[in-house]
Formats: sequence, structure tokens, C-alpha cells
Amino acid sequence: MRVLVTGGAGFLGSHLCERLLAEGHEVIALDNLFTGSKKTIAPLLGRTDFEFIRHDVVNPILLEVDWIFNLACPASPIHYQYNPVKTVKTSVMGTLNLLGMAKRVRARILQASTSEIYGNPTEHPQKESYWGNVNPIGPRSCYDEGKRVAETLMMDYHRQNDVDIRIVRIFNTYGPRMAVGDGRVISNFVVQALRGETLTIYGDGSQTRCFCYVDDMIDGFLSLMQYEGEDRFEPVNIGSCDERSMNEIVDCLGDVLGRKLDVTFKPLPENDPVRRRPDTTRAKERLGWSSKVSLADGLARTVDYFRKTLKM
Ligand code: NAD
Ligand code: UDP
Repeated sequence: MRVLVTGGAGFLGSHLCERLLAEGHEVIALDNLFTGSKKTIAPLLGRTDFEFIRHDVVNPILLEVDWIFNLACPASPIHYQYNPVKTVKTSVMGTLNLLGMAKRVRARILQASTSEIYGNPTEHPQKESYWGNVNPIGPRSCYDEGKRVAETLMMDYHRQNDVDIRIVRIFNTYGPRMAVGDGRVISNFVVQALRGETLTIYGDGSQTRCFCYVDDMIDGFLSLMQYEGEDRFEPVNIGSCDERSMNEIVDCLGDVLGRKLDVTFKPLPENDPVRRRPDTTRAKERLGWSSKVSLADGLARTVDYFRKTLKM
């Protein structure tokens, strides 16, 4: 297959490119390098089966490909709130442009959606049938609502134009190649701990998330892309079910590093979801997928990566 990965120089995109190449595909990584970096794909540049295109998905582009993974979008709150209008444009116009491409060349397209489409959930754990509890006018709305419209566009292009779509609802994912300044909690905590700084807990640290290691997530992407069941056009949650509070994350990281970590408490950002855990029954039943890497193992691998990156 010739595969296009938008957001290909980002955290998840770079891992996906690497895996697709290892499986024998030809890969085009497209990225505007807003939060991504050529460093993440440096080992791939120069390969004849890999190409990098610096491009913004807000603008149309003509390419001939068999598969499209649409990952282009800043994912960390500090980055998607930096220019919220641009974030909406990236999800809406970007997805529209890529759906246009998929329609023209009859490519299969997978959209990187998110657990954020459930907002601050009133149903726990979250099943794909849950419609969510999203504030349409808050500081997180540019991301959450942008991703919700992207899902709408995917379904409408499927129903109206018979485009072959897949929608993955990604829950919090972490691992090597997150940017040092990414701003999401795992990279923040690991970088702070390695630098000997105090860890910044937002709120009282009782809010929960489930953290999935990147390799498991990429397995999920590929399983869904290749899934041929009749229900293949429906969204699928992919994520870990190991629910932890931010205080527990600090303790787990302390165990991995073998020392007690100091923390400071900072104000909880507005609309920060209180609890989040996926119901992954659909992923298990349809794709045979479940997460394999434990939090302790995943954190240890992430610590190794940041040690090398920060030269510590
Ligand atoms: P990331 O910020 O590392 O990667 C996003 C990439 O998209 C970056 O390389 C960035 O430069 C690129 N990009 C942003 N706007 C663009 C534009 N207009 N045109 C072209 N490229 C653009 O984040 P990530 O964690 O790798 O996330 C990848 C995708 O997965 C995103 O769509 C994100 O919303 C989704 N997602 C990630 C998580 C997670 O926990 N990692 C959770 C839910 C959803
Ligand atoms: N968080 C934190 N300290 C940080 C960064 C984030 O306590 O340095 C909290 C944040 O408020 C949220 C959780 O960690 O409750 C996960 O945040 P992240 O930005 O990683 O993901 P999201 O909120 O999008 O799930």
C-alpha cells in the first residue's frame, strides 16, 4: 500500500510511519511541523520508501494513495489552545480536504478522533454509544468540537459518497518521542522528575485518566484499518482500562525511579474532565485488541527515552 500519514512528524504519527514501513508499505508523512519535528522521523528520511511533505492540511493537496491516516492536529491542551481558531480549522477543513482526497482516489481513511468527544462524561466507563457531555463554548471546545465535526464529516462522506472510513477514539496515550515541551501530564511529570524539579499536579490530583502505551495504540490503529466486518464504519475506542488518579501516576513514577517525588499543586484548568475510562468491549470483540503494556513498564521505557533526550 501507499500510505499517507498526516501529522506524521508528531508523537503518534512518527511511530505509525515506522510501523507501516516495517510492514512493507510505502509511506508519505505530511506535517506542518507545528508540534511535530523532523527529529521524530530523522531515521526515516533518506529511505526510498519514505517521503516527508511539509504542508498544512487546512489547504487542499493532490496525492495518489491507498490509505490515509489523518492524525494532523495538536493534541496537548497548551498547543491546541494557543490558536483555537486554527485548531478548529485543522480538524474541520483538514478532515474535509482529506475526505475529498479519499473520495477522489477511493482511498480508505482513518480519522484520529479522541476521548475528548465525550467531554466531562456523565457515563462511566465511556462506551462508543455515549454521545458525550461537551461544553461548546469553553477553552477545550476548539479541540473537542472540532473532533466531533470531523467524525460527522467522516460519517457523512461515508453515507453520501460511500467513502471507506474508520474512526478511532483515542484515549490518553504516552511514550517515547513525546516532545519535551508537549505539556501533557506524563511527559511533564517525567521531564520534571528527571530534572529534579517538583511535579506540577493540576487541581487536587484526584481526577482520573487511563494511560495507554504508544505501541499498543499503534496496534489498535492497524487492526482497525484492516478490519473488514460489516460494522467497520462505526467508531472504536482504543485505550487502556487501567484508571489512575494523577496522584497515583506520581506514585507509580516514583516507584519506577526508586525515589519519592515532590509535588506542587496548581489550579485545575477549566473544564478538565473529572473521570475518564474507555469501555473497550468493541475493540476486544471486533479487533481482538486489548492493551498489553503495563503502566510501570511503559513509564520505565518513557523514562529511558527522556533520559537519553535530556542527556541525564
Ligand atoms: P502531536 O502534537 O505530537 O502530533 C500532531 C501532529 O500534527 C504534529 O506533528 C503537528 O505538527 C501536526 N499538525 C498539527 N496541525 C497541523 C496542520 N494544520 N497541518 C499539518 N500538520 C499538522 O500529538 P499526538 O499525540 O501524536 O496526536 C496525534 C493525533 O492523535 C491527533 O489528531 C490527536 O488529536 C489524536 N489523539 C492523541 C491522543 C494522545 O493521547 N496522544 C489522544 C487522543 C487523540
Ligand atoms: N495535568 C497535571 N499536571 C500537568 C499536566 C496535566 O496534573 O503538568 C493533569 C490535567 O489537568 C489532566 C490530566 O493531568 O487532569 C491529563 O492531562 P493531559 O493534558 O495529559 O490530558 P487530557 O486532559 O487531555 O486528558
